[in-house]
Amino acid sequence: SAPAIELRGLRREFRVRQGMFAAPKQVIAVGDVSFEVPAGSVLGVVGESGCGKSTLARLILGLLEPTAGEVLVDGQRLSGMDRRARARLIQPVFQDPFASLNPKRRIRDIVAMPLIAQGDIGGAERDRRVAEALERVGLSREQGMRFPAQLSGGQRQRVAIARALVLRPRIVVCDEPTSALDVSVQAQILNLLAELRRDLGLTYLFISHNLAVVEHIASEVAVMYLGRIVERAGSEALFAAPRHPYTRALLASVLTPEPGLGVPDVGLGDVMPDPANIPPGCRFHPRCPVAIPRCATETPKVIADGRGLVECHLA
Ligand code: SF4
Ligand code: MG
Repeated sequence: SAPAIELRGLRREFRVRQGMFAAPKQVIAVGDVSFEVPAGSVLGVVGESGCGKSTLARLILGLLEPTAGEVLVDGQRLSGMDRRARARLIQPVFQDPFASLNPKRRIRDIVAMPLIAQGDIGGAERDRRVAEALERVGLSREQGMRFPAQLSGGQRQRVAIARALVLRPRIVVCDEPTSALDVSVQAQILNLLAELRRDLGLTYLFISHNLAVVEHIASEVAVMYLGRIVERAGSEALFAAPRHPYTRALLASVLTPEPGLGVPDVGLGDVMPDPANIPPGCRFHPRCPVAIPRCATETPKVIADGRGLVECHLA
């Protein structure tokens, strides 16, 4: 059967101006990314803020058009797909549910929105599907009558998940779904997402800046740096023996406790990667602790083998 998600040479550029009189610059947010996500699996995509992972999510959801390449969802080209057909196939769960839930609507009406947008699911069938979705995420009928401000952060994220599931999609793109929540609530939401995946046979693309979050849910992990997947491997292999120096730095940051910090300290100094100034050669070389001279001039080739892929001269 077709992979749930397939990316072929996916690229997205933006033109940005860094000052009123500056000439516009080209930013390559996603640079020629190709991968497949098998149906029923979870691909975790990890990287620092600004690495292009949210742009990748929006491209896969059809919310942004690629500059080049294409996205196939369940074997079908996303570009040109009817909006309603797309919504039945793939749905998002975003980071901040409070921002995405209309404060003036009752929970059950928010969850019903995708059904209403389909146009042909009404009346008793609509009520039944909303009740089913709320029950799946552990919300009561009574909670369905409330407004978003009357729920906790964790309950609001459950509402966002119920809304994503109400059309019974095959694929869910989760972009930092637990990053706005307290640690204890994060675990509950991760467990809920894992349970829903098993029960409903869903496929997830699961985006996070935090490798520790992805470890528990992903079958495979892709590490993104300045618009490229620099390493991809099965979750166990990646955590047991990371091959890219950037992956190793991310893992080291997971092992270092950093209370109260939402951003990982990858131990690579405070040089933030700038997608408007991608370094020549290996894009990671200015921060790489093991760089050799050719890293500054020569772009590493993608090494693809039975274990996954890695882009590094030393791999
Ligand atoms: Fe580091 Fe060179 Fe490998 Fe890039 S290619 S990750 S700079 S060793
Ligand atoms: Mg983001």
